[in-house]
Amino acid sequence: MVAPSRARRPGAPRAGAFEEHDDPVGCPFDEGRESATPPETFAIGPPGRPPDTPGWRVRVVPNKFPAFGPWPQARDRPDGLFARCAAVGRQEVVVHSPRHVRSLADLTGREFQLVAEAWGARAEAAREAGFLYVHALVNEGPGAGASLAHSHSQLVWLAQEPPLVAQEREIREAAGACLLCRVLAGEREQRIRVVEERDGLLLLCPFAGRQPYELLAAPLECEADAFGSPLLGAALALAAEGVRRLRIAEGAVPFNLWLHAGGHWHLELVPRFGVLAGIELGAGYFVNTMAPESAAGVLRES
Ligand SMILES: [Zn+2]
Ligand SMILES: [Zn+2]
Ligand SMILES: [Zn+2]
Repeated sequence: MVAPSRARRPGAPRAGAFEEHDDPVGCPFDEGRESATPPETFAIGPPGRPPDTPGWRVRVVPNKFPAFGPWPQARDRPDGLFARCAAVGRQEVVVHSPRHVRSLADLTGREFQLVAEAWGARAEAAREAGFLYVHALVNEGPGAGASLAHSHSQLVWLAQEPPLVAQEREIREAAGACLLCRVLAGEREQRIRVVEERDGLLLLCPFAGRQPYELLAAPLECEADAFGSPLLGAALALAAEGVRRLRIAEGAVPFNLWLHAGGHWHLELVPRFGVLAGIELGAGYFVNTMAPESAAGVLRES
């Protein structure tokens, strides 16, 4: 439901982004603070670098407080809880840079390539460990569920396909064709909701955006293996370009970004301007105060 009358600007009340004064005294994700996290499971760095020491470019550690998978603190419990939880899932944190960067908007293209490489390596490890699906996501800003400012993503290893990914697959199978291919072709021709096209990827404000400035980034070619794609890093960089433009237009806005790795893979990014209320949660209608055509226009000019 597009209801622009509900707010002249989408910005007004918002939960905020991380500011300098939110930084803890010792950020556990900074280079040199490796002992503040659980031992790393993967890192990109110089050959021969010992684990949990400086010199890394991207570093992956277990989430200290996972929703899926065992809490590291439960490892020594005698009742086997750790092993049972480990069968359900695992949750890892990917630290995007040794620099204390607070937003995706401030990472470099090279850094996104390394993040994509880390995502790919860990997705491969998840597959080898028997997990069916890896949900990759970024929560940025306290209003979007992030508790640490230092830019990072999460990889949730899942024993089953999550409901929204299954739903997209069922729609695709019922249609007997890739709907995203059709959508991208149409958007590319109309250019009303397109923000940017580069590197064989399209960034646009989707037709049925749930929130102002919702973004979708996808390869123009129909590709099914996101984690093995040479375009994944460029897709993350393109989504970050959207965040940069949004910051120019509206200031720092908290957002959630995730990868849908099934079918024609894509990134979805939902800025968190409003709270989910009874219409969204109870009826399943999202009330968006800004038409995607307007949002794309603002972002193109930013
Ligand atoms: Zn930091
Ligand atoms: Zn497709
Ligand atoms: Zn999707």
